[in-house]
Amino acid sequence: MTAPPLNVFAGNTLDRAADRRSDADWLAARLADPQSRALVLWNGEALVREAGGGAALAWPPLGLVREAAATEEHLAFLGLDGERAVFAFDLEGEADPTAGPLAGHGRFLGLREFGARSLAPEVAMAATAKALFEWRRRHRFCANCGAASEPADAGWKRVCPVCKAEHFPRTDPVVIMLPVAGERCLLGRNVRFPPGRFSTLAGFVEPGETIEEACAREMQEEAGLTTLSVRYWASQPWPFPSQLMVGLIAEVAQTEVRADQTELAEVRWFTRPEARALLEGRIDGVAGPPAFAIAHQLIRGWAYGG
Ligand SMILES: [Zn+2]
Repeated sequence: MTAPPLNVFAGNTLDRAADRRSDADWLAARLADPQSRALVLWNGEALVREAGGGAALAWPPLGLVREAAATEEHLAFLGLDGERAVFAFDLEGEADPTAGPLAGHGRFLGLREFGARSLAPEVAMAATAKALFEWRRRHRFCANCGAASEPADAGWKRVCPVCKAEHFPRTDPVVIMLPVAGERCLLGRNVRFPPGRFSTLAGFVEPGETIEEACAREMQEEAGLTTLSVRYWASQPWPFPSQLMVGLIAEVAQTEVRADQTELAEVRWFTRPEARALLEGRIDGVAGPPAFAIAHQLIRGWAYGG
């Protein structure tokens, strides 16, 4: 196997400076500092500008964005870029802010497309902000007593004013694995995929399970595979809305396989040359996962890895 690459949505270079999140005076000073920067999301899309054939974050003036956001509820402190503070703002509403207060400051781009067009740490910063804001949007009420919760720690916590429970952002682990038997790997076509599109197998880790157990269970359920061993490969934050994809290579027994028809419509073995042809788009009518997904990198690592 070749060494895993840095996956898209990973590699956020900011110093998260978590100890500053609860320092209200320091945060207020940074918000007023003209050196501070604003990363803007609107309905899960990032404000970008064109940059050398790719896309880069637009970084409009922080004061302008703060006015458009209207409330501190829509703000998160992402960290420090050197001495400079970076804040993320979550703009809501039907109207595109670039047709209003942010006119002339770029355009909004979905993170899958942003991730496909740039490998910069900026994509990881936007992914961090998106995962945080998706959590905020889905956890506005206390899960313990039902009262409306309030933001704390610069967007990294919510506190219930009634029962005092504290709530933290979720990251849900998902196992994503490439089953390998000798010189062949198994790929599946999800029931939601169009004919000819194949990818690795995947599933959520359930309570009480290890990563290895979840991997073995999912492969048994979806394809009837018997696991011999499981090896960690790499991971990828996946902000749709807040998963951590745990990439694995699983050695499986050479047995009959079958697609369960619930998750997978079809399974198919690929040799290394066939897997390379798949990733390079050289098999007519058959496609693999996009390069920005860890599924693609898992297959690539095995197919080109000797
Ligand atoms: Zn409560």
